[in-house]
Amino acid sequence: MKLDISKALFDEALGLMPGGVSSPVRAVKPYPFYTRSAKGSHIIDVDGNDYIDYCMGYGPLILGHQPAPVKEAIQRQLDEGWLYGTPCELEVKYARKIREYVPSMQMMRFVSTGGEATMSAIRVARGYTGRDKVVKMEGGFHGAHDCVLVKAGSGAATMGVPDSAGVPGDVAKNTLQVPFNDIKALEACLEANRDEVACVIMEPIMCNMGPIMPKDGYLKAVRNLTREFGVLLIFDEVITGFRVGMYGAQGYYGVEPDMTTLGKIAGGGLPIGIFGGRRDIMEKVAPSGDVYQAGTFNGNPLSLAAGMATLEYLDKARVHRKLNEAGNALRGGLSELFKRTKLGYSVSGTASMFQVFFGPLPENYEQALKCDRELYMKFWSHMLESGVFLPPSQYETCFLSAAHTDEDFQVTIRAMIQSLGALK
Ligand SMILES: *Cc1c(COP(=O)(O)O)cnc(C)c1O
Repeated sequence: MKLDISKALFDEALGLMPGGVSSPVRAVKPYPFYTRSAKGSHIIDVDGNDYIDYCMGYGPLILGHQPAPVKEAIQRQLDEGWLYGTPCELEVKYARKIREYVPSMQMMRFVSTGGEATMSAIRVARGYTGRDKVVKMEGGFHGAHDCVLVKAGSGAATMGVPDSAGVPGDVAKNTLQVPFNDIKALEACLEANRDEVACVIMEPIMCNMGPIMPKDGYLKAVRNLTREFGVLLIFDEVITGFRVGMYGAQGYYGVEPDMTTLGKIAGGGLPIGIFGGRRDIMEKVAPSGDVYQAGTFNGNPLSLAAGMATLEYLDKARVHRKLNEAGNALRGGLSELFKRTKLGYSVSGTASMFQVFFGPLPENYEQALKCDRELYMKFWSHMLESGVFLPPSQYETCFLSAAHTDEDFQVTIRAMIQSLGALK
């Protein structure tokens, strides 16, 4: 595989950007490929290599690259302008649409990134309850801001900096951690910090440590416990929202949080974050309340248009049904393979998400960290050379899109069998 142009670009980038990249997880060793273009399920690099893409922009591209309905909506919006600094009709329409699917978001605000959405949701929870402490799951990733960069997953876990430098001790001390899937630990934590905890923030499925699935009844138990302790429950559905189905993980599991954050798919591939929840909580946000949040690009019409077109298409074409079937087939094929070869590896995920763990199926962060990361990266390199681009970390999730074809899946399974064989 030739990567000469990518290598030259990366060599120059190393002098211009920390680690040569704009976001840490992209800093693949020895150097990343540089994308020239992407279409459908494929991504093509500057040296002309063509890969089947399962990274899919880390989740937003559920319809693949450049899906026609989204592209057309963006083009239509471009003709009307792309930044107004005033309210526009689209935000009213989009908010109404979001609430149809996620009724627990009685009111919401549009921001520019998922990280901004979680940062704001936490501020609102603190303002509403008048309490400082926040509980998150060990290995939970909610963006890159101070309050949540403590035992963080995703790139932070991959890069070995789950506890970021530069986060003041006075901030970190208010971020409490419990293991995912451990209701006793959460109960003990809320008990020990009675009347001090503003919120529990969690992904209903931990998609930023690979996907780690909630055990049966766990989310309902978290809901009951937070209610009992008067603590707000924030579901961070930046990945799971519109991924596991139209109604998010909260619809899928039938558990209603007090607040929700959305992003990724909700922007149709353009930058977005949305936070919302119960009316009495959201009324705390300025200008109706005293929790301040503002942004030049809040509710930007291009992202709203792309998000709207994505949701409309997902619903109209019943995309999830087919996509989730494909996910089931792929995960089923992989687990059969692992069973046969007795390698002790596992496959995790649900709906259109999966990940291969080089170890037993993890139920939490600690178990996930025990899986063999080096072996995953060897597997990753083999897959790339076979023309399949997976996210470059075991602690990320592989995403299917509506653009992936049966042929893509056949090529992928063959590449997996070969790559796993080459590891021995
Ligand atoms: C990606 C992600 C975020 C951060 O979103 P950005 O748009 O990258 O800021 C927050 N929470 C979860 C669960 C995510 O997967």
